[in-house]
Amino acid sequence: MSERELSDNINSLMKRITAAASKTGRDLADIKLVAVTKTVPADKVSTAITAGLRIFGESRIQEAKEKIEILRQQHEPIEWHFIGHLQKNKAKTAVELFNYVHSVDSFALAEILNRYAMNMQKKLNILIEVKLSDEEAKHGIIKSNLMVNIGRIRKMQNLSIQGLMTIPPYSDNPEMSRPYFRELRRLRDEANEKGFDLRELSMGMTNDFVVAIEEGATMVRIGTALFGNRRETS
Ligand SMILES: *Cc1c(COP(=O)(O)O)cnc(C)c1O
Repeated sequence: MSERELSDNINSLMKRITAAASKTGRDLADIKLVAVTKTVPADKVSTAITAGLRIFGESRIQEAKEKIEILRQQHEPIEWHFIGHLQKNKAKTAVELFNYVHSVDSFALAEILNRYAMNMQKKLNILIEVKLSDEEAKHGIIKSNLMVNIGRIRKMQNLSIQGLMTIPPYSDNPEMSRPYFRELRRLRDEANEKGFDLRELSMGMTNDFVVAIEEGATMVRIGTALFGNRRETS
């Protein structure tokens, strides 16, 4: 993919994000684009950095580690967000490499991340992944356990809970995602009524980010619309 092609993709994506924000009277500054670079090679990510993108999302630790190490030598620091399912035996590397983990899906994982962050004297930004559908394959904390878990994880000194994340069941029709996004926002607002002070809603991908922004997304995680179709998905 040429720099020109990638710039075109970024421009048209930004237009769609801007349109969705203005339709609902939202400030563009409250919506972060997380460019999802899983399966995208380091040289293409480098092109994306040159083209102006600054926040990147990865979903596999080993793949991310290789790219981050290469890109570190070529560019000023950029922000890396981990968005995939995190196995506990990869938690240490995740704390080393990432500024945010969007996919904290259990109390036990939070404890482990907190312990490594403490050892590294680092404060890790996290989002709690909420499981709103009953698909077997989906990860996340279920609604009925959410508030009590947020309360307990908040006490961990080396983690900073920034907000909530969810992945609705895949559908070609973005309207099918709307109830899930709306519910995540309601849960965030409910948490804030309890004094939890959560800002971020990480929701929306290539197929449904417009609806996500209409429903209050503050972080959209977008791969395909920027980098084209992946051969594999994860
Ligand atoms: C791959 C992935 C994305 C990006 O999906 P696209 O449809 O390519 O935009 C977003 N979030 C997560 C958790 C992903 O794994």
